[in-house]
Amino acid sequence: MSRFPTYLTPEQEDELRKIANAIVAPGKGILAADESTGTIGKRFAGIGVENTEENRRRYRELLFTADAVVAENISGVILFHETLYQKTKDGTPFVKLLTDKNIIPGIKVDKGVVPLAGTDGESTTQGLDGLAERCAQYKKDGAQFAKWRCVLKIGEHCPTYQAMVENANVLARYASICQQNGLVPIVEPEVLCDGDHDLYTAQKVTEQVLAFQYKALSDHHVFLEGTLLKPNMVTAGQSCKQKFTAEQNAKATVEALSRAVPPAMPGVVFLSGGQSEEDATLNLNAINTCPGPKPWALSFSFGRALQASVLKTWKGEDGNRGDAQKMFLTRAKANGLATLGQYKGGMTTAAGGESLFVAKHQY
Ligand code: 13P
Repeated sequence: MSRFPTYLTPEQEDELRKIANAIVAPGKGILAADESTGTIGKRFAGIGVENTEENRRRYRELLFTADAVVAENISGVILFHETLYQKTKDGTPFVKLLTDKNIIPGIKVDKGVVPLAGTDGESTTQGLDGLAERCAQYKKDGAQFAKWRCVLKIGEHCPTYQAMVENANVLARYASICQQNGLVPIVEPEVLCDGDHDLYTAQKVTEQVLAFQYKALSDHHVFLEGTLLKPNMVTAGQSCKQKFTAEQNAKATVEALSRAVPPAMPGVVFLSGGQSEEDATLNLNAINTCPGPKPWALSFSFGRALQASVLKTWKGEDGNRGDAQKMFLTRAKANGLATLGQYKGGMTTAAGGESLFVAKHQY
């Protein structure tokens, strides 16, 4: 027997590779609409909407019934457990609605962050127990990819070795379990932008976190061609006095990725991490026009930066649905162009320039 038994058949590998490549096809990226019940409640509180199951369903229906042209720029949507099983008012399951539009349904499978004892407020992410069974069921129910978010923070002594090893390992275990069940794992080790650190510090920490991540994925024999990476863009800390341009952010981001992420991995789908809608799009565009080796697709998996204007326009009123959907289409188009390095700026939306920063962001 080989010292390196392959645990995925060639057919399983092919299926994973195809899903991953479809998600990061040119001009396309992901809508992250997998806010937990608590997190969507905070978004709703900002627009005076009560956090009921029916309002969550109405809001997600608004997003998923946007004009089918959105599929030119949105290849996948990450759903929360509750949403995967919800339907439109007229009874069409959301999974069918999305699949019919050629949008791939995905599912958040982690169960949130918990403190790492003995650290200065660092965390790991829980949810491995029963994960294989949950993944198998989600696959049957139409999901093709999954997301698991880990969080690392920058501080005088953070991230610690303990936090980097633990989070890289738990993400690798999750990735291996997803692949065995036919789901493409999105590996998300998010380095938070909380703090006053400069761009250089953010870059070095991101490089280190990614290096731990790819060592762990290798240790767990994860099939890289059937994964996607969801990192933070490299930007200075939220309260850093010095300001950096999109070009500087892009150079730091591309350099960090090129030093730590193997070319076998097909696509990077950045989170927006509290940047304004317009900043997230401009930074993504600069990343795609930045010189340097970029062997992966460089795309988006935005939550706040695709939804802030939608929420602000909707305000819970059915009469505002059409205008809110236009906001979604505009941001999706802008980000689609940015994945091609063709966004020229100026596609205005209701919350375009507003900071979407949330301290110690939970999802
Ligand atoms: P933001 O784009 O709002 O940072 O969220 C993306 C996400 O899915 C975090 O897990």
